[in-house]
Amino acid sequence: MTPTVVRIDAHSPQGRLLDASQPIIDVEDEGYTRGDGVFETMLCVDGAVRKLPRHLARLDHSAQLLQVWNPGEDSWRAALDLALQSAAEGTTTSLGREHTVKLLVSRGVPSEQPYGLVIVSPVPASTITQRTDGVTALLLPRGHDPAEDTSLPWLLSGAKTLSYAINMAVLRYVRTLGAQEAVFIGTDRRILEGATSSVIVAHRTESGVRISTPEPNHGILPGTTQGAIFAGARDEGWEVGFGPLYPADLMEADAVWLASSVRLLAPVTQLNGQALATDDQLTLTLTEFLRTR
Ligand code: PLP
Repeated sequence: MTPTVVRIDAHSPQGRLLDASQPIIDVEDEGYTRGDGVFETMLCVDGAVRKLPRHLARLDHSAQLLQVWNPGEDSWRAALDLALQSAAEGTTTSLGREHTVKLLVSRGVPSEQPYGLVIVSPVPASTITQRTDGVTALLLPRGHDPAEDTSLPWLLSGAKTLSYAINMAVLRYVRTLGAQEAVFIGTDRRILEGATSSVIVAHRTESGVRISTPEPNHGILPGTTQGAIFAGARDEGWEVGFGPLYPADLMEADAVWLASSVRLLAPVTQLNGQALATDDQLTLTLTEFLRTR
């Protein structure tokens, strides 16, 4: 189905609806030719974008790291309203009508200015299925220690850039091996993150639940889903922890998820061929934390 696309630029700071059946991207656009730009992918349920302030804050941070223009909150909100009003019907799920909403800033054509896009489309059924069926995953080395990137600003650690070729390549690779998802590990076998997700681990304790995730500042994209879930856990009085986590911590956990904005929580059912424990009740509780945060 053709997505709904709204463009923000100097001529239309509040956004202008484009005809997505016509060409939109110039062949010299550096977002397209070099992956030079930033983006966010968000979930919209019944017309309301979830965690919008968290996404706008991360987009702003990414844009600062790339030194690229960011249209700013008022423009994004106006363009989002226009895009959502114009969007085709979303995917109907137990949560409501769901759309995937992308915000994207491209460096644009060299002789022109950067621009923003809001892109709205129905959530794919395969993404919804992951919430209930879970995913099988393999641990794979990232190839270098991302913690070392954090003091090298040109490596853009913590920025959500359009350069996702490696993240897509690792997913193709695990699929040739019969798995669905990849979890990157560091040179010291520390758990880092999924190809397009954060890793969250739960242990039931005598006093409640403890959830943990790898330290988001160590070359790992700070996940807005992870952030919102941890806010909910703190409100419940649960213990929260920021790794280091190692493969054994996942193998012996009471539940492990790959978390991201549109998929929400995909329980990891198998890691490197070994079955992992899952906990439907905890999946529901954590999903509920995301409803309002
Ligand atoms: N880590 C990476 C590398 C990602 O690409 C994503 C999302 O696409 C995430 C983590 C999860 O981020 P969020 O929860 O904000 O969607």
